[in-house]
Amino acid sequence: MLNTVKKICENSNRIAFVTGLGSVVECGGRDLWESGLFYALEKKYKLCPEDMLSAAEYSTRKESFYSFYKKEVISYLPEPDETCAIIKKLEEEDRLLDVLSFNIFGLEKLAGIKNVIEVVGTVYDNYCPGCRKTYDVPYLLEAKGIPVCEKCKKALRPNLRLLGERVDNILYTQAAIACSKADTIIILGADLSSTKIQFVTGHYKGNNLILLSNEEKYGDKFADYAIHGKIKDSMKAIFED
Ligand SMILES: [Zn+2]
Repeated sequence: MLNTVKKICENSNRIAFVTGLGSVVECGGRDLWESGLFYALEKKYKLCPEDMLSAAEYSTRKESFYSFYKKEVISYLPEPDETCAIIKKLEEEDRLLDVLSFNIFGLEKLAGIKNVIEVVGTVYDNYCPGCRKTYDVPYLLEAKGIPVCEKCKKALRPNLRLLGERVDNILYTQAAIACSKADTIIILGADLSSTKIQFVTGHYKGNNLILLSNEEKYGDKFADYAIHGKIKDSMKAIFED
C-alpha cells in the first residue's frame, strides 16, 4: 500500500490536502471531541463542547461562550510540525494545489504555506462587528470576561463557523473547485464520513483519494487508499524516504 501511494504522489503535480482534527492533535492541539475530554468538559460546563461553541451560546450567553473559548480552546494552540514542513516544500516545488483546512488553528498559514483555504475560519482572525478592527489571540486571552473593541466597546467575534451557522459558500465553492482540479487528494486526520468533507471531496474526479490517519474511522471506506499510524511518519515515508 505504502509503495503504491508513494508512487502516486511522485507522479502528482496538483496535490490537494484536506486537514482535519487529527493533524491538530499531532501538532500538540486538543481534540475536544475525543470522548474522555468531551465528557469531562460536559461535566464541567454542564453543556457539551459543541453547545458551548455554538452560535446560540455566542449570541445569548457571551460570557459563558468566552469563558469556555478562552480556557479550553485558545489556551491550547498547536504549532506546525514536520507534516506542515513537507507540504510547504511541495508548494515550493510547485506541486501543491491547495490546502483545504477543516480545523480552526491556522497551522498551515503559521507554517508559511500560501495556498490555504481556511474553510471553517481560524482562531487568529478576530474582529469587532462594529468597526471591523481586528484583534489577536493574546488580546482575547488578556481581556477580563468578554473581550470588547477598544474603540466601540462591542463584543468581539472570532471569525469561525460556529455550530448552527451557515457554512461560508464562497470558501466551500473554492475548496470544491480545488478538489475538481486536483490529480491527488491527501486527507490528513479528517473523517471522510463528515458531510462537510464529502461536499468538497465529492467534486474530485480521480482515483487517488488518500487518507492518512491516526485512528480508524467509519469513513475510511470512502478513501481509495488508507494508511493508519502517525500522520507525520506516513508523510515522511511517502515524500522523504
Ligand atoms: Zn470596534
